[in-house]
Amino acid sequence: MSVDYSAAGLKVGLEIHRQLDTRNKLFCNCPSILSAKPPSFTFIRRLRPTQSELGQVDPAALFEFHKGKQIAYESDPETTCLVELDEEPPHPLNKEAVDTALNISLLLKAKILDEIHVMRKVVIDGSNTTGFQRTVVIALDGRLMVEGMEVPIEQVTLEEDAGRKMGETKNSVTFRLDRLGVPLIEISTGPVIKSPEEAGTTALAIGRILRATKRVKRGLGSIRQDLNVSIKNGALVEIKGVQELDLVSKVVEFEAQRQQALIHIRDELRQRNVREEDLKDDFVDVTSILANSQSKIVQAALKQGGKASAVRLYGFKGLLKRELIPGIRLGTEMAKRAAFWGKVGGLFHSDELPAYGIDQVHVESVSKKLGCGDSDAFIIIADQGDNVLDGLKAVVERSREAIRRVPEETRVANPDGTTHYMRPRPGAARMYPETDVPPVSISRDRLQEIERNLPKMPEEIAKELQSKYNIGQKLAGQLVDSEFLGVFESIVTTSKGIAPSYVATILTESLRSLTREKVPVDNLQEDHLKRVFGLVTEGATAKESVVDLLKWLASHPESTASEALKELNLGMLTRADLEDIVAKVVTSQQAVVSQQGSKALGKMMNLVMGEVRGRADPRMVAELLKAMLDRVTK
Ligand SMILES: [Zn+2]
Repeated sequence: MSVDYSAAGLKVGLEIHRQLDTRNKLFCNCPSILSAKPPSFTFIRRLRPTQSELGQVDPAALFEFHKGKQIAYESDPETTCLVELDEEPPHPLNKEAVDTALNISLLLKAKILDEIHVMRKVVIDGSNTTGFQRTVVIALDGRLMVEGMEVPIEQVTLEEDAGRKMGETKNSVTFRLDRLGVPLIEISTGPVIKSPEEAGTTALAIGRILRATKRVKRGLGSIRQDLNVSIKNGALVEIKGVQELDLVSKVVEFEAQRQQALIHIRDELRQRNVREEDLKDDFVDVTSILANSQSKIVQAALKQGGKASAVRLYGFKGLLKRELIPGIRLGTEMAKRAAFWGKVGGLFHSDELPAYGIDQVHVESVSKKLGCGDSDAFIIIADQGDNVLDGLKAVVERSREAIRRVPEETRVANPDGTTHYMRPRPGAARMYPETDVPPVSISRDRLQEIERNLPKMPEEIAKELQSKYNIGQKLAGQLVDSEFLGVFESIVTTSKGIAPSYVATILTESLRSLTREKVPVDNLQEDHLKRVFGLVTEGATAKESVVDLLKWLASHPESTASEALKELNLGMLTRADLEDIVAKVVTSQQAVVSQQGSKALGKMMNLVMGEVRGRADPRMVAELLKAMLDRVTK
């Protein structure tokens, strides 16, 4: 289904989060890095907000709390101290992080606040040991030109990153605390973006500004994009966790489609004269009907003392299998709701039955027991008793919403650009002053100092690259848009004798094609890149080996460039080694050599190079071959 976005009244706002590449964390002196080692200790907590907090907690946060999970925190002394463990008050705001945020604010022409205040934003999903996230508004009301369109920047905020989720089960969730406290910048645009393409180009433009500061982290997890998407007669839906820039426009496209499909379903339900009050919380136990089914889910639930119950959805026949976006049907949306509220693994809806071990005879019996008419649908859930009822309640509520309107909700992006239900949309963020951290005045002097040293804008950097390093416009643009601009400059200044355009091509096109081959390029550290080119400069390997070395290092990030060289046998051959190889090839081609004499040089050259390509200078090969042929044909 294609969507006319302007007729659909599409509106998108972006919230771009990116980790800052500071030395230390935002509120302590721990290094702002993720640990590669296993944790040295783990502690368990169950978050219990105090009564006063609960009184004002927004509904979304309260639901997270009600999930009542046990939370395990993994920690190690290299990346965490008492601040992350919530055993010591936070230290004053990290000056380097504030300066970077001021830089970004100025680049975005935003109005910087005279005094910045640390606030607490309640989060009860356990990702913060304190139960809140510390956040600091730095500037308001900026703007950015994106392909001739002025995009308002509503706010620039400095935040502490949350713990890193390592795993989750039904009853517990584990966070690693190394990431907790890493400074994050959040940039939010006004909801003025009107097409998926504009959303993509705006995200790209903000990314360019951030990279221009050369003070942001790169790699998977360092960037997270949240999108607020609505269409006319639809709803404001918040989509979290879009990690890939390329995915932004796809996510918007799918969300517009999803909301349109839901509006069509609503209209159809109204045409069918289905009213909200026709949908009742009448849950019927169907355990006895399904007890002899082959369904693994039903059998597993019964084995654990659970049950199967069903509910009739008046007038919904055929709508549950309606696909909203690829792979996501109205039935899928209901299943996700049931999973959130009832912690159930899933549900069966009548549009997809008979299937999954539930036969036609079961379908007919359930339908009859529920009193379903020809145009009715039904849902079955099999699980623990309480979960089943909570799940079905959530299903009926979602069905009523299908008649009412597109629900406002928070969703999570899937890797293919589709999304799934995460939780209800939170109310306005609840903020409290963080009394442990004093406010910071931003002096005129400090701002003027930053303004004097403001980084160049991306277009300007691209122009400079072209003239300074003699590289083409396209390549310069790609370099500015890549994560490797900083490392490029340090490589070309230290690696004399390698053409800058060659380095730029490796850092852009070659790494991109490795990414497409699913090589984990994000693992490459700056040092890997610098050392691989260093080996070429030192004559230890040929430049043709660079890609192979990087490919190997991406999959073995703990290793060094020299180890890669050894492992892949891509070191340069010594003159003596090369002489041996030449002699061997010439001996093996005795017949050709005695027939053609020195005319065999071309063929011999091909054979030898086939063996030593990337490990020997072709000129030396030619020289040795010639000498050898002269000798044997004399
Ligand atoms: Zn710390």
